[in-house]
Amino acid sequence: MKPTIVLVGRPNVGKSTLFNRLTRTKDALVADLPGLTRDRHYGHGRVGSKPYLVVDTGGFEPVVDSGILYEMARHTLQAIDEADAVIFLVDGRTGLTPQDQIIANRLRQSTRPVYLAVNKGEGGNRPVLAAEFYELSLGEPVVISGAHGDGVYELIETVLESFPEEQEETESKHPVFAVIGRPNVGKSTLVNAILGEERVIAFDMAGTTRDSIHIDFERGDKPFTIIDTAGVRRRGKVDDAIEKFSVIKAMQAIDEANVAVLVLDAQQDIADQDATIAGFALEAGRALVVAVNKWDGLSEERKQQLKRDIARKLYFLDFAKFHFISALKEKGIDGLFSSIQEAYDAAMIKLPTPKITRVLQSALERQQPPRAGLIRPKLRYAHQGGMNPPVIVIHGNALQHISDAYTRYLTQTFRKAFHLQGTPLRIQYNVNH
Ligand code: GDP
Ligand code: GDP
Repeated sequence: MKPTIVLVGRPNVGKSTLFNRLTRTKDALVADLPGLTRDRHYGHGRVGSKPYLVVDTGGFEPVVDSGILYEMARHTLQAIDEADAVIFLVDGRTGLTPQDQIIANRLRQSTRPVYLAVNKGEGGNRPVLAAEFYELSLGEPVVISGAHGDGVYELIETVLESFPEEQEETESKHPVFAVIGRPNVGKSTLVNAILGEERVIAFDMAGTTRDSIHIDFERGDKPFTIIDTAGVRRRGKVDDAIEKFSVIKAMQAIDEANVAVLVLDAQQDIADQDATIAGFALEAGRALVVAVNKWDGLSEERKQQLKRDIARKLYFLDFAKFHFISALKEKGIDGLFSSIQEAYDAAMIKLPTPKITRVLQSALERQQPPRAGLIRPKLRYAHQGGMNPPVIVIHGNALQHISDAYTRYLTQTFRKAFHLQGTPLRIQYNVNH
């Protein structure tokens, strides 16, 4: 389980700047797909061997920003509850403000560890900048510069100190899937259809910090684990929409799963939020199956219209299988399970080097990479660089000049050759100059 770090602070202290620094990855995992909504408030990062999830609470809700009446947004309070650690950012140039005091009061009541960071500290005298923030009684203020990077690495190392290093190969030997989607699409109905109502009785949540539970079960003699995030509501803690849906929970569940089952509502149009959630799954490299739910009672015209809407708005999920189901009528569940298994198998595939290289050679014979000016990239051989998602590492010369279009062509070719249905596939170029 990766820790979730939540960034809080009043507007303009530098949260989004710090967020960008904390989520910057050298190997851009997801190409910038046009139309793919990337919500820049939730991201993945890593320091050394320690991975983490990070959430920027800036812009969660319009802030009531009138001096002493400043109120922290409800979504921010919820995010703090769901965090493993909180970084509270203040502005070293402006100094301590009443809003900082109010936020600090809330944070002192929280059971989560809070780290106080004094931002915009580049070029300043650190002890002087820190001095006035001791008053917040949140421990020693650490002076950083999110924009320049000063002190950021040390800060994040301190935050992550008590969290474990990434474990090698703790991969589950069977599909562990998370049912995700925006509110009311039918996630709980689907989970109940899968597990049967009786299990709800065995529902025991006491004392866990994470509101998701893992349930092992068998279907057709095959083992599966479901990660149930929707279950939170059955705790009797039902509040309202805010309680009902948490992007952080979806993000954590995706991270803990090896297959994501994205539920869509056939009675509604595809929303930005659907694409955002799909985007997380893609960014996390998860195998994915899409369940278009509430397929019961739709007119033929509506069905066709929805399929066109999906093809247009979720075109970047072309690697995933779509199932048109009814959780309520328990229709289409068997097919869904075949695809979950298939997506898992594809994500975990082991490909021998000679086989990969052969496919690469035949791809090259059909179509050479285009020249970039006078340079023609030379692709020599390939091997598998990772699983879940499968990564194919290609060696050769001038590979930095390969176009995105050609990478897409190779991806499609490998996909077809190895029947990689349901999993993202990544191609990396190992550049020998
Ligand atoms: P947010 O509203 O808390 O997300 O703040 P932003 O990240 O949008 O930053 C607000 C302003 O502060 C922007 O103009 C940033 O360029 C600036 N800023 C952020 N971090 C630093 C920093 O470390 N040093 C300085 N000098 N400016 C910064
Ligand atoms: P969640 O918020 O995603 O967990 O959604 P729920 O499972 O609570 O379902 C929201 C609403 O959609 C409820 O009224 C369900 O009865 C209804 N619903 C769920 N699945 C189906 C379905 O397959 N067909 C129809 N017609 N309604 C459904």
